[in-house]
Amino acid sequence: MKRDVTVGGNTVLNDAMNRINDWYNTFGPNQRFAVWGCSDFAEQLVCNLKEDLHFAYMIDRDEKKEGTDFCGLKVHKPDYLNQDRDVKIIISNTYMGTRVKIANQLQSMGFEENKDYTYAELVLSIYNWKMHEKIVSQYVEISTTTLCTLNCKNCTAYMPYVTKKYHVPLQELQQGTDFYFESIDYVGRFRILGGEPMLYPDLNAYLEYVGSRYRSRIGELCIVTNGTIPIKPELLNLAVKYDVTFFVSNYSKSGHPLATEKHYEDFIKVLKENHLRYYFSDSQKWLSLGNPKEFSRDLKDVTLPEKFNDCRHYCRSIVGNRLFLCATWAFAVLGGVYTQSVEPFIGKEILDLKEFSQVNKEERFHKWFEYDIEMKLPNGYLDFCKYCNGFGSKNTCFVPVGEQKER
Ligand code: SF4
Repeated sequence: MKRDVTVGGNTVLNDAMNRINDWYNTFGPNQRFAVWGCSDFAEQLVCNLKEDLHFAYMIDRDEKKEGTDFCGLKVHKPDYLNQDRDVKIIISNTYMGTRVKIANQLQSMGFEENKDYTYAELVLSIYNWKMHEKIVSQYVEISTTTLCTLNCKNCTAYMPYVTKKYHVPLQELQQGTDFYFESIDYVGRFRILGGEPMLYPDLNAYLEYVGSRYRSRIGELCIVTNGTIPIKPELLNLAVKYDVTFFVSNYSKSGHPLATEKHYEDFIKVLKENHLRYYFSDSQKWLSLGNPKEFSRDLKDVTLPEKFNDCRHYCRSIVGNRLFLCATWAFAVLGGVYTQSVEPFIGKEILDLKEFSQVNKEERFHKWFEYDIEMKLPNGYLDFCKYCNGFGSKNTCFVPVGEQKER
């Protein structure tokens, strides 16, 4: 199997089934695996496949982690691999810039891609299919509203440019979710977000819907919030009932009166008191995706396939009955920022989940593999890559966190 990680690389073989079988001949059962990167995704991988695979240990470049335990596995530094040349290595990081750096380091140590090392999403997808006939994805999100309490200049959901301010009808969310779970068996992380989801009047009803029908098919059920609105008791009860994880971002540097350090202290205190799992993102800087109306002027010397391959943003998003490969495009469609029709891209760059769920399972898996895992696209990029700087290493446009734009 050939799967380039370097910028500009393209998968060259055509048949998904052959590629999967080739991969399985190298990375199939009876191998020992070392997982590189103590990441959320590594945790998902190890928890999901610990009965099927022999995970031997973790590798991490962070020296502070050396000798500690991660998911019951000992963490070693990369040079430990020099004394264990037979182990197969799984790179768990999903950010392309980091993946390329790790791949380069492994190559400099004499390890080869598709012989000695591979990627976590391939392991998760192929093993679940081969061993359990399950179609598994690592991640999806769904937006409930385009309204937000903040108005960040460089919001990746394009809040300052949104022309369609509305709450997505509950029935539309439910239907899209149903078609998603008719299409695949399991997702590692399912995130409910906005805008700001705490503004969504049917958040409790939607959470109850997802929790009661699909909780056993979701690894981590999450709500993503800017933390400016306190959690109401009924939502708190549902969050406890369905074991919800909160993703809270710290916008205190924005200077907005609803986003003070005190707000975040109080917000986190409530989560802790209720024993709810949470991630508190305290970024020092953001990457600007640019103004979508200015046609990605910041990266005009980079071709679109180069930009896409450098980014390969792993962030699937359900909008209506459709699945977008990249949430940035999904946000732009939802908020009326992308004003063209998406019809020409259905079945090529965007999946129609209603149709896809009707495809027979074996064919569906192979199509899913090409789309979700390999990200094979007819043009080698998404139409929205024309309007977006992306999350790749070529985008060096860093900006302050949460800078507000006047409404
Ligand atoms: S639209 Fe932007 S974020 Fe999405 S894949 Fe293209 S460059 Fe990356």
